[in-house]
Amino acid sequence: MDKPLDCLVIGAGPAGLTAAIYLARFYRSIMVVDAGHSRAAMIPRTHNHAGYPGGIPGSELLQRMRDQAAEFGVQVCSGLIDNLERQSNHFIAYGDGGEWSARTILLATGVVNNRPRIAPETHAVAVERGLLRYCPICDGYEVTDRRIAVLGTRTHGFNEATFLRMYSRTVTLIASDGAHDLSNEERDQLNLAGIEILDGPCEPLRMKDRTMIITTPSGERMFDSVYPALGSVIRSELALALGAEATADGCLIIDEHQRTSVEGVYAAGDVVKGLDQISHAMGQGGVAATTIRNDLAKVSCYDKRYDTPRFNPLCPRLRTYRIRFHGKR
Ligand SMILES: Cc1cc2nc3c(=O)[nH]c(=O)nc-3n(C[C@H](O)[C@H](O)[C@H](O)COP(=O)(O)OP(=O)(O)OC[C@H]3O[C@@H](n4cnc5c(N)ncnc54)[C@H](O)[C@@H]3O)c2cc1C
Repeated sequence: MDKPLDCLVIGAGPAGLTAAIYLARFYRSIMVVDAGHSRAAMIPRTHNHAGYPGGIPGSELLQRMRDQAAEFGVQVCSGLIDNLERQSNHFIAYGDGGEWSARTILLATGVVNNRPRIAPETHAVAVERGLLRYCPICDGYEVTDRRIAVLGTRTHGFNEATFLRMYSRTVTLIASDGAHDLSNEERDQLNLAGIEILDGPCEPLRMKDRTMIITTPSGERMFDSVYPALGSVIRSELALALGAEATADGCLIIDEHQRTSVEGVYAAGDVVKGLDQISHAMGQGGVAATTIRNDLAKVSCYDKRYDTPRFNPLCPRLRTYRIRFHGKR
């Protein structure tokens, strides 16, 4: 295997691509490997990402980021990394697209939303048309005064329904699998806010013209938009297998510089506990890349581009260099 890369970036969503742009501009040797399921690619048109009046489709934003990364020589390889091993001072990542060794790893692997019961082809069209939505913070504004259903229960469903109530008087909270699991206090608050509560189980969602149909034991209802509040699968498994600390639901716990609890493994974006938004993922990608660059410099103490020693009085290679060429101790 070749010399280890400075960093293997796993995931080419907003977090991974931002980090890749930064790292390439720091003259680090990197590779990005991506399984091709960025949540950003599902966004028909984002209107809350700053800098794009009129909005921008998620797929276009990702393509622009890829193009920008390519300007600095970044390669993105398609594939799924399914195993990460630590060797003495580097990592080996194994995937269906190949095998990479790297001194550091940036996990920018995101999350996968749990879907309601719905035919896959209907799901894609419903998301594209804004009939099915996954992010009230992102696009609640777009459903102002519409008929909204939230699919879910417990605290998650309760929070999402009350959040969306700021946009519309017509919000219905529907338990997808059976009877609701809500406290009396939550029921009181929902009633006070005028949010209708319906028990499930729901039949698979259907689309009719520009509406979603939800069928429960109490009958068939039509909505302009449905928000599943069914949780997500956090794609942190590679770091967890190395012993990284995570929250109960699997979000990676990081320090203020995006370092996980495993030395050499960094994380950014939705896979980390925090606000699941493009801007946040990009910000974390920038912080992670800068931390990786600085942490690597502490170890190697040689400036990559000019191959000259940087000032680090603790570095043995630098001490040898200074003694040899400057006679200093
Ligand atoms: C329908 C929808 C609408 C949204 N609208 C907005 C919006 O308007 N504004 C906003 O700010 N946010 C929005 N979001 C949220 C936004 O998409 C995410 O916050 C953002 O994409 C997170 O970026 P990320 O880089 O962390 O993860 P992602 O974009 O999800 O990218 C992660 C990448 O890692 C890859 N990956 C995972 N595991 C592996 C592995 N083992 N090996 C290789 N690759 C792997 C995945 O395939 C994926 O390509 C929306 C989300 C959805 C679903």
